[in-house]
Amino acid sequence: MNEAETPLTPNEKHWLWNIWHSQRLESELGICPSCSSANIEFQVWRLGDGTIRKYQNCPDCRALIEAARRSEEETARLVKVSHVRRYMRETCGIPPKFMVEDFSTFKAGWQDKALEVCQSYADDFPLGNAPRGYPSLYLWSTESWGCGKTHLAAAICHRVFDRWTGKKGCPRIVFLSEPELFRRIQATYSFSREESNVRESEDDIIKSIVGADLLVLDDVGKEPRKDMQFVRRTLFAIINARYNALLPMVVTANLDPGRLKEHLDEPPTEASFNRLWEMTDGRSIRMDGRSYRKGGKVQ
Ligand SMILES: [Zn+2]
Repeated sequence: MNEAETPLTPNEKHWLWNIWHSQRLESELGICPSCSSANIEFQVWRLGDGTIRKYQNCPDCRALIEAARRSEEETARLVKVSHVRRYMRETCGIPPKFMVEDFSTFKAGWQDKALEVCQSYADDFPLGNAPRGYPSLYLWSTESWGCGKTHLAAAICHRVFDRWTGKKGCPRIVFLSEPELFRRIQATYSFSREESNVRESEDDIIKSIVGADLLVLDDVGKEPRKDMQFVRRTLFAIINARYNALLPMVVTANLDPGRLKEHLDEPPTEASFNRLWEMTDGRSIRMDGRSYRKGGKVQ
């Protein structure tokens, strides 16, 4: 027996009979159940063998109830947005020390111009879709570590997360230092066969870095390494993939452009450096001393 031939139960028959015979009768006036205003029109229905009154609130109460419902919905939405934002912020790789450091905690009168450039960079960062074509940023100094590059890079991430209000996906940011990148990759080499089935592989690491909406590569060239071929090959894979996908990077280094080029490329090649330089579209910020000087000639 197929479904169409299944006989109706007595309950279903009664229900159908009621629907079939329901009929709207004349309206009558009554009192709003919420605020007791008089002369509110009620609809009276005959449903099968009974009569029902469709009670309704007065227009003012209906508007209040609707406004409360909307505000509840909006609150629930904002709570969800703030959970997602917090999760993305806590898992993107910003070092713990910089989780609470944003533009507002950056020392004033120190690197004001760099601060301003980074603030507009974060304010203009496209949200919603992959920020294809958005330029990269290169923050560098040669005189000292600790002049605020990592602070500014982290502040850019915080500002981008804060600007996201729930429209489309939350921007996916990956923040990691060059030493950490190579430590993570190298750790994959010592996995046992069982571990390598469940832990991230070198490919997984590169893929997650390459596909992020924004990649912050902090402390480039900070730790001297013997295996420079491996370093350059890995960095080329990342830079080249992001160059081809038109996705931005924020790079910080204690290397001027000339020394960054030596770090990234085995002379005489310049493939990585040239791509990165093109991606920055001139956004190369020197942060030595108290003064800000933009750029730096490519040597
Ligand atoms: Zn009312």
